[in-house]
Amino acid sequence: MAKMFIAGESVEAISGATYEVRNPANGEVVDTAPKGDADDARRAIDAAEAAFDEWSHTSAEDRGKLLFKAAELVVAERKSLAELLCREQGKPVMEASGELEHFDHGLHFYAGLASKIRGAHVPLPAKNAYGMVVHKPLGVCGAIVPWNFPLTLMGTKVGPALAAGNTVVVKPASTTPLTTIRIIELMNQAGIPKGVLNVITGPGSVVGEELLVNPKVRRIAFTGESATGKHIASVACGDFKRVTLELGGSDPMIVCEDADIAKAITGAMVGRFWNAGQACLAVKRLYVFDKVFDEFVQGLVGKVARYEVGDGMTKAEKPKIRMGPLHTAAQRDEIESQVKDAIDRGAKVLLGGARPEGSQYEKGNYYLPTILVDVPDDARVVTEESFGPVLPIFRVNSLDEAIEKANGSIYGLGSSIWTKNLDNIETAIDRIQAGNVWVNSLHYGYDELPFGGVKASGFGREHGPEALDYYLEPKGVVITR
Ligand code: NDP
Repeated sequence: MAKMFIAGESVEAISGATYEVRNPANGEVVDTAPKGDADDARRAIDAAEAAFDEWSHTSAEDRGKLLFKAAELVVAERKSLAELLCREQGKPVMEASGELEHFDHGLHFYAGLASKIRGAHVPLPAKNAYGMVVHKPLGVCGAIVPWNFPLTLMGTKVGPALAAGNTVVVKPASTTPLTTIRIIELMNQAGIPKGVLNVITGPGSVVGEELLVNPKVRRIAFTGESATGKHIASVACGDFKRVTLELGGSDPMIVCEDADIAKAITGAMVGRFWNAGQACLAVKRLYVFDKVFDEFVQGLVGKVARYEVGDGMTKAEKPKIRMGPLHTAAQRDEIESQVKDAIDRGAKVLLGGARPEGSQYEKGNYYLPTILVDVPDDARVVTEESFGPVLPIFRVNSLDEAIEKANGSIYGLGSSIWTKNLDNIETAIDRIQAGNVWVNSLHYGYDELPFGGVKASGFGREHGPEALDYYLEPKGVVITR
């Protein structure tokens, strides 16, 4: 049985309650985890508060060294961690391994930044006086993480929080606690002092909620659905906590007539179907210029047809590429109803549009990669976030039309444009309403650059040195000689 990790120890829930974590590929139990409640959350918050003073006064150099060491221990277990992530989340081992690589890279990034945090010396108009800006960590931070990228999205919170001298309580999604627990154990084995980094498991509405309402928690970093984000903001901001919200997205991708079509096809394929489409920054609406539409769509359909759905623990035979199941049955139901809605409104299915047939698929949440055309703008796959392997493609006649449609969404997370024309590129960067624009590039959250959304995709930024701003409070100091 997996256990929570609180104050340097692996512990069960105080009540002793547990729940099963099941494999989305076959419904089998992977392991059990503690079903924590508010008392468990308070135990972790108290431990993090008790550890804060010492940790915040540990030298930045030493905090960085501990993070480097933690990354080393995680990398040493990469193979077994990737397999565990595959079994609890559903993603193929190759993708799980890539997620661990990203986690490792992010931890290195913040380990290196720990000792680079600077303040300022400020000349003042008062006589014999000058000002300083010193950056102080906030205290206990709650890191609330979803199931689609449980490790990288935990790392983007834990890395900057610890580097800046805060202590952390991690709350993973209920369906993906196992790899997170093991990683937190390993990071603690690196020598991070007791209570600095804790993980609690149990329902978000109970243990997560305690993080929101507990006055000892000074900061909430949340990634998840926009609806949950709204609730988080209303409760946590009401208590004056610092809050960042990384929420849903419906990223547009625009392919101009001068684009490198082969590269754009690969960008659309990976951008939409990686992680079975369950990514906030996935390509969810594809706008292709009329002149290259037929060539592009034909090429994309041929390439996406290479996906073979199946258990992520086994590789597909080349040239096939493995796609895992959707994470939950509810997630597949949602995708099915969005596709049905599009078809009912006149959409044409060019690929997929159904569950795969065969007894080997019966126990998993499988769904075929799906490409749709002739989708009306009011279909749910356009107006809502579609969190699965479904891609609607639209024909456009100009960049103005493409950008207008791209911006016609409540979301504003990522976006991309594929063109060699500098005017088009600058127009897209200037006018697309999104936190990120990728130019001839995959939709990918680099650790080096700030990442986050506008509109219903949330506020605040993760990644980049900018993320540290959300874990430090600038303190103004006036010194008079
Ligand atoms: P949810 O919002 O359902 O859950 C996210 C986390 O919040 C889980 O740990 C959940 O716990 C917890 N939670 C639920 N209710 C509460 C509460 N009342 N108080 C505190 N915590 C709570 O999101 P999903 O797990 O379904 O994740 C998918 C969503 O995440 C998609 O919309 C996706 O776009 C978005 N996302 C955004 C990203 C970004 O960077 N912008 C990146 C990746 C995903 P429990 O599991 O126990 O319910």
